[in-house]
Amino acid sequence: MRALIVEDDPLLSEQLATAMHEAGFVTDRAADGSEGEFLGSTESYDVAILDLGLPGMPGIEVLTRWRDQGISMPVLILTARGDWTDKVAGFRAGADDYAVKPFRLDEVVLRAQTLIRRAAGHARPVIPAGSLKLDSQLGVITRDGVALKLTAFETRILSYLIHHQNRVVSRTELSEHLYEAETDRDFKSIEVVIGRLRKKIGEGVIETRRGEGYVLRTGA
Ligand code: CA
Repeated sequence: MRALIVEDDPLLSEQLATAMHEAGFVTDRAADGSEGEFLGSTESYDVAILDLGLPGMPGIEVLTRWRDQGISMPVLILTARGDWTDKVAGFRAGADDYAVKPFRLDEVVLRAQTLIRRAAGHARPVIPAGSLKLDSQLGVITRDGVALKLTAFETRILSYLIHHQNRVVSRTELSEHLYEAETDRDFKSIEVVIGRLRKKIGEGVIETRRGEGYVLRTGA
């Protein structure tokens, strides 16, 4: 899963990125509103964490512009303590959730994971997919109740496919949600990882649709 962090406090931004990495996210960071608005408009993210008090362009303006362009990614806003008018303005502009500073990092990570799961239409934290189950909070995937031994990259790919099971996920879409903005997106390594995943979860679970992408079939 890929997250955008728009926060001008360098320490907080760093801490958020570290906490998100530990939870299996790749992250891009922006320290001012205009840059954040640009990244959110041009790249694909599963979730954005957006501070409201930003140089360059206020957070509310950033969010309004995203929503005006029809960008529907879940957005969690960061607000100053006691500033309820900010919160209201944030929700009116299209925020999905908020955290009040100072917050616990693990709480923000948990909220971000919940937003992603809900946006994909899953009501509960454990997402079943045939014989597989993803615990979206722990980032653990089991097969018939046994935890799979997966690398971080394998977990990211399989989690994305489980979130979007039974529909075609193109390689472009997959790569957009797996890599940070500056990375060379590499279809070959995705194919290699899909091959390794098939050995671990059984052939036939992930179908390749020639020229289209991959489908995680759960028999539904
Ligand atoms: Ca700020």
